[in-house]
Amino acid sequence: MNFQQIFGKPPETQASAPGRVNLLGEHTDYNDGFVLPTAIPQSTTVQIGFSRDGQHHLYSDNLNERVDILEINYTPSGFASYIFGCIEVLKKAEYTIPPLSLYVNSLVPMGSGLSSSAALEVATIRAVRQLLDLPIDDVEVAQLAQQAEIHYVGVHCGIMDQMASSLADTEHLLFLDTRTLERCLIPFPDKAEIVVIDSGVPRTLATSGYNQRRAECEEAAHLLGVAALRDITDVKATEALPEPLRRRARHVVTENNRVLEVLEGVSSQRFGELMNASHASLRDDYEVSIPALDTLVEILQQTEGVFGARLTGAGFGGACVALVASGETKAMSATNALKKYNQAGYQGRILVPVADFE
Ligand code: ADP
Ligand code: MG
Repeated sequence: MNFQQIFGKPPETQASAPGRVNLLGEHTDYNDGFVLPTAIPQSTTVQIGFSRDGQHHLYSDNLNERVDILEINYTPSGFASYIFGCIEVLKKAEYTIPPLSLYVNSLVPMGSGLSSSAALEVATIRAVRQLLDLPIDDVEVAQLAQQAEIHYVGVHCGIMDQMASSLADTEHLLFLDTRTLERCLIPFPDKAEIVVIDSGVPRTLATSGYNQRRAECEEAAHLLGVAALRDITDVKATEALPEPLRRRARHVVTENNRVLEVLEGVSSQRFGELMNASHASLRDDYEVSIPALDTLVEILQQTEGVFGARLTGAGFGGACVALVASGETKAMSATNALKKYNQAGYQGRILVPVADFE
């Protein structure tokens, strides 16, 4: 069912925003550190129009679900909380938002760590911006989207996902300093592209694990007398910390340094080595990997045409990203790795590249 069939008239306008995958800089964003995501080819589109009955009307084509919102007695839940959150943060920013009808359609896989949530928020705010001609720039879009997710969905997320969805494209990596929001788009390393494979293992422990790591980092920063672990640049400084804080801090410091090395300009080979080192650090020091992710990463690392691979996202399940030689070998690297992984008893799925496999 399209917008017209659901709401009885065509939309006024529409906007899209992509999902993202992070190549380097994992678990660094809540430590005020550096990240290096890129946009994936899949995006979320929000069509929008005015509602005439005083209520907001939301429809997700992916979930085949409709929610009608009369604001005074509405408690956000489910997918509506992301969209309602966006409307509310725009109101808090002093914009007048009339009753709206919004229709969502997305190709971003949901819940696989490619940030369908940020894509939904950024596409929603872009659609409202376009409909009402609001003077909001792309950084503000990301900040409002983050506020919506924190305050209306209850996910204490950093700014990376929304900044990537709002500012990155598929041709570049977005270097982002999450403390200052200083950023730049850098080209992919020479003749290299990404492959993303879902491990097929849901991120069940992700929330508790994430909150625990966050708390450990805060404690480590406190013990080291700095505002955030980002302020530590020499890994030797972490040696005085008790375990497991020492290893947690060591991951954050080395991971930030890996991102900064890429910023200087590195070959595809070296980029791959840094991704491999990142995975080892996430596995051994940060302890957010699981056997399925280790298996998938190892298989990818041994596959011809692959420069390097690592888990991506918070860990405990979800997807792995690899840097691979572009061209014909790319598709082959992805299918070969997937075949081996599934032969090991798992149910993986190629998420990027898209078209060749569907
Ligand atoms: P991720 O952002 O990694 O995909 P999240 O758990 O943060 O995983 O976000 C997934 C949630 O976002 C979904 O469960 C759903 O509530 C919401 N969502 C994202 N895209 C859509 C969509 N197209 N339609 C409805 N809800 C969506
Ligand atoms: Mg998300």
